[in-house]
Amino acid sequence: TPIRARKPDWLRVKAPTSVGFAETRKLMRRLNLNTVCEEAACPNIGECWTQKHATVMILGDTCTRACAFCNVKTGMPRPVDPLEPEHVAVAAGELGLEHIVITSVDRDDLPDGGAQQFVKVIEALRKNAPQTTIEILTPDFRNKADHAMEAIVEARPDVFNHNLETVPRLYPTIRPGARYYHSLRLLERVKQRDPSIFTKSGMMMGLGEGRLEVHQVMDDMRSAGIDFLTLGQYLQPTPRHAKVVDFVTPKQFASYGDIARAKGFLLVSSTPLTRSSYHAGEDFARLRAA
Ligand code: SF4
Ligand code: SF4
Repeated sequence: TPIRARKPDWLRVKAPTSVGFAETRKLMRRLNLNTVCEEAACPNIGECWTQKHATVMILGDTCTRACAFCNVKTGMPRPVDPLEPEHVAVAAGELGLEHIVITSVDRDDLPDGGAQQFVKVIEALRKNAPQTTIEILTPDFRNKADHAMEAIVEARPDVFNHNLETVPRLYPTIRPGARYYHSLRLLERVKQRDPSIFTKSGMMMGLGEGRLEVHQVMDDMRSAGIDFLTLGQYLQPTPRHAKVVDFVTPKQFASYGDIARAKGFLLVSSTPLTRSSYHAGEDFARLRAA
């Protein structure tokens, strides 16, 4: 497939200029919180922040890994901020969030991989924002996965999300620090330990994956009991990052979505601009109401 330098029309978004956008940014700065919306240069930031939906990134803005698709900086992270759980809860309250998505950088440097901070954030939210449903989007916790997962499951988030990101064949180049089956098993164990927690995963499209490979990943996810699926177009954040191999058409995304629903996923979002946290709250509320 020839590489197309220009983004197709379906990926064009409006520049963020609304009042809601400015207010969301101000609040995050005041509470000293990072968001993946900014750090990952998400194309939906105008739309999401206007509606005051933001995905908070805990445990700092510096990651111990360097995935080929990711815009977050790599290096030696700073110590964990003890005020962060409280600040996340204040943000949820002030933004009036029905649903909050919490993610983090990867902290291979911490003895628990950062799991305790996830637990503290969940506890602070339950206490100060009891109406808010909680979705966590975690790293793979590498060799600390069992303990980390158990501690977090114990704190009972509503949705446990961990992205497989791409098909197994592309792991060595795209996600070199991770292992496909390790990530899959992490989600499988969450479901085994507490079936009342919804599990969720997602992939980026346009990295050179084949259709049958995508279908296989969906089957693997369903065998691991994964409930929700997100598929979106990968966009190269800077020239240093992995190249876009192709722009998957909206029609092809819709077709993946139909297949995913047929395979039994409870919630599916499959569009070019879908991200792990895009419309996560609305979709989850719809499911709970049904
Ligand atoms: Fe933030 Fe997610 Fe919206 Fe992107 S899709 S702006 S990461 S909430
Ligand atoms: Fe980005 Fe997560 Fe990879 Fe770190 S582990 S580089 S935050 S995708």
